[in-house]
Amino acid sequence: MGGQIMHFETIAVHAGAEPDPATGAVAPPIHLSTTFEHGPASEDPFGYHYVRDDNPTQARLEMALAALEQGEAALVWASGMAATGAYLQALPPGSHVVFPDDMYYANRIIARDLFPRWGLTSTAVDGSDMAAIEAAMTPRTRLVWAETPSNPLMKIVDLAALAELAHARGAELLVDGTFATPALQQPLTLGADVVLHSTTKYIGGHSDVQGGALVFKRKDEMFQRLVDLRSLLGAVASPFNSWLVLRGLRTLAVRVERQSATAVALASALEGHPRLAAIHYPGLPSHRGHPVARRQMRAFGGMLSLQVKGGREGALGVASRVRLFLNATSLGGVESLIEHRASSEGPGSATSEDLLRISVGLEHPQDLIDDLRQALDRA
Ligand SMILES: *Cc1c(COP(=O)(O)O)cnc(C)c1O
Repeated sequence: MGGQIMHFETIAVHAGAEPDPATGAVAPPIHLSTTFEHGPASEDPFGYHYVRDDNPTQARLEMALAALEQGEAALVWASGMAATGAYLQALPPGSHVVFPDDMYYANRIIARDLFPRWGLTSTAVDGSDMAAIEAAMTPRTRLVWAETPSNPLMKIVDLAALAELAHARGAELLVDGTFATPALQQPLTLGADVVLHSTTKYIGGHSDVQGGALVFKRKDEMFQRLVDLRSLLGAVASPFNSWLVLRGLRTLAVRVERQSATAVALASALEGHPRLAAIHYPGLPSHRGHPVARRQMRAFGGMLSLQVKGGREGALGVASRVRLFLNATSLGGVESLIEHRASSEGPGSATSEDLLRISVGLEHPQDLIDDLRQALDRA
């Protein structure tokens, strides 16, 4: 392709999509084999040995994800949390991690319950406040963790500024890019060292496969440690799951473009509704992170959250009156979802009781606006 730099949409269709050399099949084969024939002294003529180490379907997905994030290499996992757990476990004992206080809730539980056993420490601060992050860093800080937009408050982090700060203090920057997807934001190009995805969400895109990924800027020591850790502990993606995620990412760009446009329409239509105490969507000019989001994202994504007047009862009332939105956890599928996060996260949740999180699907925007309006109006 002549050394020309391809656009994201083109890479999404073609990366890791070479026709099968054995048959010419255009859609990639799923190699379910757990083992690969080797020579008498375990020579691997095709580069594959055993499914827990590597397999051809997973290798295609990793090639595609690395290309989409402009990284040197990617590793896929059985879930987003498997990727998260592996990365944190690979840190040298004694390491300190700076977490954002608004992030995927399971990370908070890992920091609280597992870090002491792993010999790690952490501090949680407002992830969009550079001064607070700097103040939280210690000489042992090895990692700054960022999530942007964040879950569920949709806070925006200036990734270029944060990468500079982390590196100046000898730490690495990991970005959980699940909400934005590489279609909208490419953290490695802004200075981050690693990007994490729950591919269960937008990249899979159809609410039918679980997966996780780490994409590395460099094939460095951490990358190699994670290759070894995955092989040893076995939290690998299955070939079939790798295939489904690969199938999903071919259409990522068009799905996310439409979901972002619909989310803008929905947030604009609902902003100022008398039953709402707040609406959090980085695409609204009134959102605190809007200027940075404009700069570092191609569009503002399909996730938003609402705070409903009347506290927990007010929020549960809206969640019970929607007809088109489904009450379900997760995000990034073709169907629009709504969720009372405090109930879903359970005890220990830091999420406000009046908050509903929305994942915008691929329905017509007017139908979604009408549904939420009737659920709010009848309060
Ligand atoms: C879902 C999610 C995760 C965890 O991923 P799983 O695939 O559910 O294990 C991590 N981060 C964010 C932002 C998520 O939405």
